[in-house]
Amino acid sequence: MNDNLKDFLQKTNIQEKISAKDIESILSLNKTQEINNLYNEAYLIKKKEVSNTVYFRGLIELSNICNKDCYYCGIRKSNKKVKRYMISENEVLKAAKWAFEHRYASIVLQSGERNDDEFISFVENILKKIKKISNNKLGITISLGEHSLETYKRWFEAGAHRYLLRIETSNQKLYNKLHPKNHSFENRIDCLKKIKKIGYQTGTGVMIGLPGQTTLDLANDLLFFKEMDIDMIGMGPYIPHNETPINNIAQGKMIPKEKRLELSLKMIAIARILLKNINIAATTALETISDTGKELGLKAGANVLMPNITDIKYRSSYKLYDGKPCLAEDNSHYQHYLENRIQAIGEKIGYDKWGDSLHYKAYFATASTNI
Ligand code: SAH
Repeated sequence: MNDNLKDFLQKTNIQEKISAKDIESILSLNKTQEINNLYNEAYLIKKKEVSNTVYFRGLIELSNICNKDCYYCGIRKSNKKVKRYMISENEVLKAAKWAFEHRYASIVLQSGERNDDEFISFVENILKKIKKISNNKLGITISLGEHSLETYKRWFEAGAHRYLLRIETSNQKLYNKLHPKNHSFENRIDCLKKIKKIGYQTGTGVMIGLPGQTTLDLANDLLFFKEMDIDMIGMGPYIPHNETPINNIAQGKMIPKEKRLELSLKMIAIARILLKNINIAATTALETISDTGKELGLKAGANVLMPNITDIKYRSSYKLYDGKPCLAEDNSHYQHYLENRIQAIGEKIGYDKWGDSLHYKAYFATASTNI
């Protein structure tokens, strides 16, 4: 085994402090055998810490209407070529019911960012209704961007218990290059802190292979996750979208697709080794750059999948990047397909179980014994 990897495994095992340099040395592994060793070690840790059970979160994309203008995102406010939609309450409830009846146990509500009262109340009501129709049994993650403490509290009290807010990159300078001036890195961090404080299981993540991003940035991203003591990670490769400003900058400067895939898998593997019992998603973006992306992700340490269950008529309008798959996939058909693919790699599906982050549970177990 590669010496740096051996060293890294030992340090994480005895919980010795890990430096960005340590992580960079793993991100830079370039021999196929050594990279496979990394994935295999991460997989062993995954099995030990969170088992080989994969949890499904049915993803419902509420709306592509967005106040934000992120330079990389296909549904940014200034993209006039997108047909904007807002899902109806009945459509959300129908999808949630489908997830519940198909034993998914959890859903994710994601949306472009809207901070108006109408939207905030819509979400609050829908959360209450989903809890009601599922007899409180459906777990709910929300991923709705930056909001006030009060809004986060309202949604928590209405029934959401996990929140996903990606930091996108922990390098503030790079963050500022990827966003207009009125988008604030500090506020994003502040929001993550608010979310944690309220008691949500807190998830964050980054895009991997962004133009201008270095391996040091990625190493710092992982240290950021550790420092923030997060419970869940959703991260995946950056994929250009034709109608975004960064696409023009990215042309010619992009890390090739294969490398972005490899870097994404390495990031998953290192996150698993470093953070042990957290939940990690194999994301849609990973699936987009490789036909076997989700299997590779699960084999490198991920344990969550987020199958899209939004009404098919909306899917092509929630295009964050080019080539987003499953635009016309029937839910039941896709579930069956996933079952086969997952079983083929020797993993189980956690039907009817929330599959909460064990990290979060462990934290509260120690917190309560300390009281
Ligand atoms: N409004 C919500 C949801 C945003 S979309 C929020 O702010 O949290 C979810 C994620 O998609 C983003 O956080 C971003 O990391 C990712 N994304 C957007 N554009 C992308 C692109 N071009 N390539 C890869 N991922 C992208």
